[in-house]
Amino acid sequence: MPRQNRSRKNNGQKTNNINQRQRSNRAEIDSRSKFTVYMYESEQAQIEKWVKLRENIETGGDLFGLWIDHHTAVVQFVLGPGEKCRRTTVSFYQDIEYLREAGSYLTHQHGLCNIGQWHSHHRLSLTRPSGGDENTVWGNMPNLGLNRYIVFIATINGYGKSTKVSINPYLFEMNQRGACLPVESGIMKVLKGENSPFRSNKVIDNFMRNGGENYPDQKETVDIANQSSNKKKRPTLYTSKLEVWLKKKYEIIFTPGIAIDSIVT
Ligand SMILES: [Zn+2]
Repeated sequence: MPRQNRSRKNNGQKTNNINQRQRSNRAEIDSRSKFTVYMYESEQAQIEKWVKLRENIETGGDLFGLWIDHHTAVVQFVLGPGEKCRRTTVSFYQDIEYLREAGSYLTHQHGLCNIGQWHSHHRLSLTRPSGGDENTVWGNMPNLGLNRYIVFIATINGYGKSTKVSINPYLFEMNQRGACLPVESGIMKVLKGENSPFRSNKVIDNFMRNGGENYPDQKETVDIANQSSNKKKRPTLYTSKLEVWLKKKYEIIFTPGIAIDSIVT
């Protein structure tokens, strides 16, 4: 067979293989359920607070919680920027030492996982991860041994009292062959009126203050359950409404290990 023909044939095979792979990746994407993130209102409010502190420059942090199925996650605690973070108007680099210490504490003492990160695109009008963000995340995932990772992009609209922060969730997922699937935008479901039991825990709160940048004063810490009422402060339950609902729907068992007596009541 002449060299030219053989090469054409090989090219044809290569193209077919690529098309097959693309079709198979596409089928995988189509079969995925919609990416959904549940989050306590206290954690949403905490991100909004940090974002509003830096209206013209990036800020960010990390997301701790768990996956309850391949495309459903619960964010139970949001970490803010560490004191040694670096930022510009178009980039944010977390304080690695702060993340390592806080992450190790939340993981080993409280059974949470680092399931993603958040950062602000402040007033850049870019509600999704930039090309640079995507390269960074895809590059880091194999080193971290992860095949799923969440990125929240926060943006700011309006001024003064009308200032509004939006949080947009995205899923980065690799299939079993290690191929990067298209980044998927997700749905955020906020549990209104609920404080994260991890946010209400004074021991955890004190740990996070050590090395955290612009940590709100104790009295300023977002307390959703008591924010809108003058009612007598109700106790924070170890099993929240979110957990009861998730248990019923997904039959998951939450990791025990939180010292119940250390929860603020
Ligand atoms: Zn970005």
